[in-house]
Amino acid sequence: MNLDTLWNIFSGDPRFFEVKMECRRCGRCCIGTEMELLPVDIERLLRLGYRLTHFARIDSDFIKLRCVDNHCVFFDEKTRTCKIYEHRPIGCRLYPLQLSDNDVVPDPECPAAATISKREIERLRPYVYAFVEFAKITRLWLKLRGLI
Ligand code: SF4
Ligand code: SF4
Repeated sequence: MNLDTLWNIFSGDPRFFEVKMECRRCGRCCIGTEMELLPVDIERLLRLGYRLTHFARIDSDFIKLRCVDNHCVFFDEKTRTCKIYEHRPIGCRLYPLQLSDNDVVPDPECPAAATISKREIERLRPYVYAFVEFAKITRLWLKLRGLI
């Protein structure tokens, strides 16, 4: 898939990518996060006024959410909630679905993983694959935009 196709897939309402499940709001997925950012996530966060270096780790091939004190920079330790919940990245919405051995499966580390229906996994399956493809070019996109 080229950049335009991927951009079109992910530029709509981000709520589409939220996994229907019985999330326990435990915050476990925000601790030590390795969540990759897509260009559309970065655009959204920059529009909100956040600086790239505040929320992104740009020291590897993938651009990931920055951790502070071993949790995502946007995680509120006191309330154990996301400070940007309405604007959170696509990967956080697709979680706990992830790619494993080229299959899309819920992360067993998520305590609510078993509450996701097979139908929901099938609905989001193509977007998890597309997410992985798009995340591979975030760094290049940042370079082309002159942001790094
Ligand atoms: S680890 Fe699972 S149950 Fe806990 S907040 Fe994240 S998605 Fe919800
Ligand atoms: S952006 Fe929000 S939901 Fe995503 S890892 Fe950070 S605190 Fe958690």
